[in-house]
Amino acid sequence: MAILKAADIPSVSLLYKLHKLSAAPADTKLVSTLLGPTQIPPPSKALNDRVAVYRADITCLAVDAIVNAANRFLLGGGGVDGAIHRAAGDKLYEECRKLNGCDTGSAKITDAYDLPCKRVIHAVGPIYDPFKHDESEKLLVGCYTKSLELAVENQCRTIAFSALSTGVYGYPSREAAPAALSAIRHFLTGKDGDKIDKVILVTFEKKDVDAYTEFVPHYFPPVPEGETSGAAAQELPSAPTSDPVDV
Ligand code: ADP
Repeated sequence: MAILKAADIPSVSLLYKLHKLSAAPADTKLVSTLLGPTQIPPPSKALNDRVAVYRADITCLAVDAIVNAANRFLLGGGGVDGAIHRAAGDKLYEECRKLNGCDTGSAKITDAYDLPCKRVIHAVGPIYDPFKHDESEKLLVGCYTKSLELAVENQCRTIAFSALSTGVYGYPSREAAPAALSAIRHFLTGKDGDKIDKVILVTFEKKDVDAYTEFVPHYFPPVPEGETSGAAAQELPSAPTSDPVDV
């Protein structure tokens, strides 16, 4: 399978240009999330250039860190966890064994061994509880935030997330996507946000592709066409208003 670098993966800015993503209607009400925002935020080219959504097998990405949807034991399992352990080889299992597991809502980092990425962040998402939605969201948001913190602490500037908890752990994709996007936006606009060059949301199943296609424009809205060229024009010297004078 082809190995992809972070730079090969189209940003949200490019996805808008290619009409693979489109703006949400102006009267869109945002899903309520713990970290907000509560309404569509102002568009930012700088943010849209640093976020990507891409359908792929995460084990093929040659980014600084990939985020595994692990369980509390950190000893491998099914789904993306199994795929990552198979591709990384036995040494990953050996390192994970020494970590003494991980709390739900948190994450730990290891080497990547035979994988093309540099590090693996093992995040333990919640098993979705529809009767405790806020608690589930708090734990899911904890995974995204802790993973980004670990990336920064370990000089990982490009990070690819699997859709944590949306498989066997049963978190509905249309609820997980807003929580993930809100946590990522919150981090990228915070004090360490500039230490991350690219966040890639890796989708695998169609339900997650659909959820991100719907919700990315709520958190990373498109920059209106012409606005970027307008900004560039402001940086050019002003046109002369008088005739040149011979010296
Ligand atoms: P969880 O137990 O956290 O729900 P799963 O592994 O069951 O973890 O699913 C998490 C997400 O990973 C799901 O959206 C699933 O479609 C996706 N997934 C499964 N295999 C891969 C893979 N090889 N690459 C990327 N995503 C994957």
